[in-house]
This record gives sequence, C-alpha cells and structure tokens, in this order.
Amino acid sequence: MSADYTTDVLIVGSGPAGSTCAALLGTYGIANMVVSRFGWLADTPRAHITNQRTMEVLRDLGLEEEAVSVSSHQDLMANNVFCHSLAGEEFGRLLSWGNHPARKAD
Ligand SMILES: Cc1cc2nc3c(=O)[nH]c(=O)nc-3n(C[C@H](O)[C@H](O)[C@H](O)COP(=O)(O)OP(=O)(O)OC[C@H]3O[C@@H](n4cnc5c(N)ncnc54)[C@H](O)[C@@H]3O)c2cc1C
Repeated sequence: MSADYTTDVLIVGSGPAGSTCAALLGTYGIANMVVSRFGWLADTPRAHITNQRTMEVLRDLGLEEEAVSVSSHQDLMANNVFCHSLAGEEFGRLLSWGNHPARKAD
C-alpha cells in the first residue's frame, strides 16, 4: 500500500535531533513530516544527563517545565554503582555525573 504526502521538510529519524527539528520548524510554521524506522521507543534510558544547551532549546520550545517535572535531581544521581544485581553484592561505587566535590563548581 502506498500513499502520496506533500511536505516542505522531510525529517528522517525521530530521535532527539529529528523530533527537536520538527518541533522547532513547527514554531516557525514550516510544514514538516517525521518518518522513523521503528514504531516504538527505545526500551532503555538514553538521557540520564541533559546538558545546559539542551535545556535552553527545551525552554525555547516551552518544554522546560515539563522536562524538569519528570527529571531526577542531580543529588539523586551521585554514584555510578558496580554490583552483581540491584539487590545483590555491591563491588564499589564512583562519584559521578558531576557530583565529585572537586567538580561541584562545574
Ligand atoms: C545507553 C545510552 C545512554 C545515553 N545517555 C545519554 C545521556 O545521559 N545524555 C545524553 O545527552 N545522551 C545520552 N546518550 C546519547 C544520546 O542518546 C544520543 O546522542 C542521541 O540519541 C542522538 O540523537 P540523534 O537524534 O542524533 O540520533 P538517534 O537517537 O540515534 O535517532 C536517529 C533515529 O533515526 C532512525 N533512523 C535511522 N536511519 C533511518 C532510516 N533510514 N529511516 C528511518 N529512520 C531511521 C533511528 O531508528 C533512530 O530512531 C545515550 C545513548 C545511549 C545508547
């Protein structure tokens, strides 16, 4: 089955780059269409850390408050834990995600 579509901008891929591109073009009233290879989202997390420039883009899109509302505060992400399982033996942990005292000013 095939169908004809007309759009000014065709965006291939609905990852952060593609979906942000679509949203930003939309704010300028530029017609666009996103196509993606898959019909589902990734089943593992890929955005533990969201950097300052990304938050600025989300702010421009009016999405900052929503992003913050579903985020974990940095203090809750202090360590990178090495363990056999979540309830099993812990081998060690590192201060990470910018939480080492030497990096607090970052
Ligand atoms: C485990 C993991 C953890 C991560 N943690 C972080 C983090 O904490 N912070 C952070 O900033 N980044 C993190 N990243 C990196 C971040 O996920 C990537 O930088 C980001 O996803 C890249 O976005 P993108 O839109 O460029 O590409 P992608 O997210 O790869 O999106 C590209 C999309 O295009 C689709 N596509 C490709 N080719 C075609 C085609 N021919 N036709 C149709 N669709 C197509 C793909 O299926 C995909 O959905 C992590 C990545 C992984 C794997």
